[in-house]
Amino acid sequence: MEVDVDVAIIGGGMVGASLAVALARACPDLRITVLEAVDMPDTGAEMGYQPSYDVRSTALSYGTRLIYEQLGLWDLLRQHLTPIKRIHVSDRGQFGVTRLRAEDYRLDALGYVTPNQWMGRVLWTGLRQYSNIQFRCPVQVLRVQHQEQGVLLELASNEAGGSEASTLRAQLAVLADGGRSGLRQQLGIQTEKRAYGQVALITTVSSRKHHDFVAYERFTDQGPMALLPLGGEDVEDHRSALIWTLPEHRADAVLNASDAQFLELLGERFGHRLGGFVQVGSRHVYPLALERALEQIRPGLVLVGNAAHSLHPVAGQGYNLAVREVMGLAELLAKAARAGQGLGELSLLARYEEAQQEDQMRTIQASDSLVRLFSNAKFPLVQARGVGLVTLDLVAPLKQTFARYAMGLGGREAVLA
Ligand SMILES: Cc1cc2nc3c(=O)[nH]c(=O)nc-3n(C[C@H](O)[C@H](O)[C@H](O)COP(=O)(O)OP(=O)(O)OC[C@H]3O[C@@H](n4cnc5c(N)ncnc54)[C@H](O)[C@@H]3O)c2cc1C
Repeated sequence: MEVDVDVAIIGGGMVGASLAVALARACPDLRITVLEAVDMPDTGAEMGYQPSYDVRSTALSYGTRLIYEQLGLWDLLRQHLTPIKRIHVSDRGQFGVTRLRAEDYRLDALGYVTPNQWMGRVLWTGLRQYSNIQFRCPVQVLRVQHQEQGVLLELASNEAGGSEASTLRAQLAVLADGGRSGLRQQLGIQTEKRAYGQVALITTVSSRKHHDFVAYERFTDQGPMALLPLGGEDVEDHRSALIWTLPEHRADAVLNASDAQFLELLGERFGHRLGGFVQVGSRHVYPLALERALEQIRPGLVLVGNAAHSLHPVAGQGYNLAVREVMGLAELLAKAARAGQGLGELSLLARYEEAQQEDQMRTIQASDSLVRLFSNAKFPLVQARGVGLVTLDLVAPLKQTFARYAMGLGGREAVLA
């Protein structure tokens, strides 16, 4: 089959766009097309709702910084980044507190927080820098069909204003649709899923005191919450991004509470470390589940990002894991392309799967056990985690392991260096 492009990426969200840039940089001869369903404005224009680059902020690990440096996007990204200089982990009503400090690891930061909308701007700028990337939007992929050599995609395009159906043939299709579009189901790919019975309420809050670049993770009997510092060095900017996990039955009440009630509730759950909260922005709710696709490769097809796995957000690992994976995929595909190997060959994709499996399983398990351990109000778990946190604070090697995990380095620093 004569193909139109080498790699077709379905979804230009944070993961699909990162893969396109990594691939284009690693192999300038590859023809890459990114197909994105939701219209995206030109840089500089106001952005409407876009499901990947929405009102959330994302905590990027130190390992992700090293990757963005490699991709040549770090200097732009850092224009709207807030460093996390310390992480403070505590358990509501318990005595354990853990503090991780960047200076103890001779780093300027343990991680960084960036608004997703800024991430979108940076990634689109990156996409435009490569002449071998064709970015098409709004184009929705309706169907993915495996063919003898490669894949055939059925598209519905609104690029020229009107609706138009067309097809695109590629050696390899990368499913980066966030698991949202039904394509995974259409392909008959099963997932294992555990609903947490929780939602994540996200919003921006302002506190009386400056956050001093501290990220807080706080575990409560109703679920974990995280507060990530926002803004630059300006001490007048007291904003933080809040991710508050709540049992499903509590979500509506907290979502619809008046601002004053909300701030009071938050103060009660979070404590008064930042001098109390004085302002809250618009609130949004995301249902939470751990979901993992049981098949992540097929001939001519690979799943990445949330299409492959979605994690509880409190440990801030979902995107960081996906970025490590797409870097590995890009390097492998670039090498294969230079050697003249077919990019959709199952043996090649199996090498990708094998290489990233350990990192994927370890990250999923670590964030899942963190959530389950800290969401359970029953004794002796309550005691165990209190002791766990104190132990973590006292025993340096344990703390280092936790910090390495939080920084997204795991055992991969050699690859990233
Ligand atoms: C509340 C919350 C907070 C989080 N915080 C963090 C954090 O701090 N750190 C971290 O590492 N991770 C975090 N995560 C996880 C992170 O947001 C995800 O890992 C990431 O968004 C996944 O990106 P993605 O590109 O795979 O999917 P998505 O962001 O869902 O993007 C998919 C894209 O595909 C497009 N699309 C869908 N269907 C089609 C189709 N048929 N055709 C064409 N295009 C299509 C969509 O329009 C979209 O642009 C958080 C998640 C949540 C819910």
